[in-house]
Amino acid sequence: MSTSETVILESNVCPCGHGKILKHVTTQDNPWSSADISYELSCETCAANWVLDQTGIALVSRHAAAKADAANEAWRLAGQRLHAVVEKLVNDYFTHFAAQSKKAEWQEMHRLDIYVGTYRNYLQDKRNKQQAGKIAYGLRNRPWLTALAAELNSETELNQLIATWDARKNEWEEAARAVKRWPVLPKG
Ligand SMILES: [Zn+2]
Repeated sequence: MSTSETVILESNVCPCGHGKILKHVTTQDNPWSSADISYELSCETCAANWVLDQTGIALVSRHAAAKADAANEAWRLAGQRLHAVVEKLVNDYFTHFAAQSKKAEWQEMHRLDIYVGTYRNYLQDKRNKQQAGKIAYGLRNRPWLTALAAELNSETELNQLIATWDARKNEWEEAARAVKRWPVLPKG
């Protein structure tokens, strides 16, 4: 049976300056367990408004972090329909292209700048029964995609999907920049 011991250490001051961030270090009396570290805020105001981020080294403002997460999810959702449309355009293109060999298809993807992987990577993707639309990343070459869509009279839809996706991405980046951070460890 193993026993554990917890010590509570004072770390940085809390963001508002009225309290402390308390570091809880729990160690086991066996050599294979590493120390368990958690943080607690002694200040009620900061405990309500701040939360430890994923890196575990900084507190982030709870409200702004939630907004950034929501914006990230909105960006992801905006991409779903777009990626499906792009995938279909790329699949159709390569169906018509009807490459004489796998190497020729891989080269065509590189010529269009919609694939950055090696031939070996490409073969691996092919072996996983991936279609061209899944292997290539069509959005790397937007003018080419737009031209493909124009041939099918779906240019307007594609451009709208791209514009919305770009807008959601900008909103996410802005929301992420607005997240304030506060280090759990004191400086120096
Ligand atoms: Zn505080």
